[in-house]
Amino acid sequence: MSVLLLAELSQGHLATDAVSKALSAALPLGDVHILIASDDGQDAAAEAASLQGVSKVILAQHDSLAHGLAEPIAALIFSLAGSYQHIIAPSTAFSKNILPRVAALLDVMVLSDIIAVHDVDTFDRPIFAGNAIQTVISSDLVKVLTVRTTAFKAVEKGGKASIEMIVGVPDPELSSWLEDIEVVSERPDLISAKIVVSGGRGMGSKENFDAIIQLADKMGAAVGASRAAVDLGYAPNDWQVGQTGKVVAPDLYLAVGISGAIQHLAGMKDSKIIVAINKDEDAPIFKVADYALVGDLFSVVPELTEKMGTE
Ligand code: FAD
Repeated sequence: MSVLLLAELSQGHLATDAVSKALSAALPLGDVHILIASDDGQDAAAEAASLQGVSKVILAQHDSLAHGLAEPIAALIFSLAGSYQHIIAPSTAFSKNILPRVAALLDVMVLSDIIAVHDVDTFDRPIFAGNAIQTVISSDLVKVLTVRTTAFKAVEKGGKASIEMIVGVPDPELSSWLEDIEVVSERPDLISAKIVVSGGRGMGSKENFDAIIQLADKMGAAVGASRAAVDLGYAPNDWQVGQTGKVVAPDLYLAVGISGAIQHLAGMKDSKIIVAINKDEDAPIFKVADYALVGDLFSVVPELTEKMGTE
């Protein structure tokens, strides 16, 4: 049995955290081949080859693969699919754009966001915003899966897989690249950060939300937000944590002025330690919190920021 793992690249390098966690989900399924699709990809291929347990890295080079466009990558995977029983990728915006296209070309279903692998056909995935876990047995000949990376441990480095170069398939010319606009930030990436400080509607305004940013900066944390905070314009859309935002599982999640709606919990309840600050002692967030601080955030947050020491 062979498994094709689609790797995500970031500025020419492997998105190691996401890929090595998806690899840990893929290893029980068979020999894992990591696919690097790029116009160059040499560095990423070497990084992928160094992950433990990888059997082979396939480096597909083609101009059409330079910018991560979904259509040429889906066509490439479809051309390789005959040799694989599983096609798998970390569940990120990148793969969510590609794997459904692959599944459509193969006329199979996508099993999204798997959190456990029972055997080659059987997987667990969360449904109803994480309130129930569904066990799915797939009878598709090729199983197309995305992996919720927060549910798996990263595979260590120390592997020495071979790298096979292939030429990508012709561009189906269904889309063309115009430009990438990247948000440059000194802060850790929200999904892989060890600490996340999130603010909600309780912050009251965009200006007040700065207190969250200051606290996060003092703690070396990423900044998150509830959907209410995003909808009100306190925080940008890509900071949203939850069912329709990002799923995070940091060592420490600090929720400030967030009530704890199930859609928010769906994105953070697997965090190792949850600290909640809320003035309402009955706020649902306290049901999942390891530490509950009942108080007015406008006095608690500045005090906490001060106590974190100087920057
Ligand atoms: P609120 O529920 O209004 O809570 C604000 C909290 O701040 C309250 O608990 C209040 O006690 C506290 N507070 C107020 N003032 C202070 C103060 N001075 N000091 C201390 N505490 C204070 N939500 C998400 O977050 N992420 C999602 O991905 C998401 N997806 C959704 C998808 C769907 C289909 C739907 C229907 C909803 C979704 N939501 C999501 C919205 C979700 O249901 C809630 O509406 C939202 O999470 C509420 O955000 P909040 O906790 O910031 O606001």
